[in-house]
Amino acid sequence: DVLTNGGVEFSSLLLSKPVLEGLSASGFQRPSPIQLKAIPLGRCGLDLIVQAKSGTGKTCVFTTIALDSLILENTTTQVLVLAPTREIAVQIHAVVMAIGSAMEGLECHVFIGGRPISQDKFHLKKCHIAIGSPGRIKQLIEMEALTTSSIRLFVLDEADKLLEDNSSSSFQEQINWIFSSLPANKQMLALSATYPESLAQHLSRYMREPTFVRLNQTDPGLLGLKQYYKIVPSHSLPHKVFEEKVQSLLELFSKIPFNQALVFSNLHTRQELPHLSNYFHYSENIQDQRLEAMWKLKQYQCRVLISTDLTSRGIDAEKVNLVINLDVPQDWETYMHRIGRAGRFGTLGVAVTYCCHGEEENKMMAIAQKCSLNLTHLPDPIPPGIM
Ligand code: ADP
Ligand code: MG
Repeated sequence: DVLTNGGVEFSSLLLSKPVLEGLSASGFQRPSPIQLKAIPLGRCGLDLIVQAKSGTGKTCVFTTIALDSLILENTTTQVLVLAPTREIAVQIHAVVMAIGSAMEGLECHVFIGGRPISQDKFHLKKCHIAIGSPGRIKQLIEMEALTTSSIRLFVLDEADKLLEDNSSSSFQEQINWIFSSLPANKQMLALSATYPESLAQHLSRYMREPTFVRLNQTDPGLLGLKQYYKIVPSHSLPHKVFEEKVQSLLELFSKIPFNQALVFSNLHTRQELPHLSNYFHYSENIQDQRLEAMWKLKQYQCRVLISTDLTSRGIDAEKVNLVINLDVPQDWETYMHRIGRAGRFGTLGVAVTYCCHGEEENKMMAIAQKCSLNLTHLPDPIPPGIM
């Protein structure tokens, strides 16, 4: 069984009893390949850069390392996790609480913008593990609401996103500031699906001789995902192209027996997506709506979520087995992140990318070549066994 390392169990990783209990209660029996590699190194106290495709189980890597070294009697913050979006922070919290379910008195809280500071202050009175966005965490340290002196583990989840250069946000500055306010001898973990040169440079400022943990090419991360593209005729009027794609998509929905689908478009506002938002639940860039839409998806209250790339990172809704790109994403990293939303942890899934004949088609082929994708033309008619 490629996904589960031929039967190695978590119990062979010499983890504490409550952590093993929590893993088992969360339905995690066997470590994934990246977990098997990274957890023992992390438990040795090494600084790690963990790079593996989405859906390979990186949350459980740092959660297990964090929980296994936690001193429950000390209720000041020992672990600080930064995440680039509210949704990811909330999801990490759920994983920590699940794997930590056998650790009595465990206090773990999320600190993100849009929530009252007074509530944060209350939670910080007892908080072993703090998870948050760089902005809010910086603010709480500045206010001396978050005590940093006991922090022994500093985690950057989705480090590529947190330290992105072209980001309009000032994450980099905030992270620098947070880093310099932490004790010098802490352990650091950076987790990322991609590892661009710029990220390597940023991390070298924070980490001393980090150990690099990555999976090789045979990584089963997206093994179960079938990737297709479908060409639509190009047209000088963009909304005609869009209509064409949407018509084709509606037909696809009626023929593929999917559980849940995520639809990505390069367009960004409701105005630009008039047809779609009439049909489906559309997640706008309004933070609360995004969070709500994500929970609806996770709780199976909606089947199709239309979204921009803000939602594409790190979102883990296990029943999503169909990802649609209405447009070819701007770069290969975005493509990999989007399709990584289906086929999580080796489950089966389908990804379909619509491309206009011509320029957009070429862009798709360039991505396919760059990432050695196994990409084929969507069969017409769609065979019954496609899913
Ligand atoms: P990543 O951060 O690498 O994108 P996640 O940590 O979000 O991946 O995990 C992806 C999915 O795999 C989640 O649904 C998670 O519950 C599941 N998963 C992770 N590790 C295991 C495991 N050892 N056994 C079973 N499922 C797992
Ligand atoms: Mg992740």
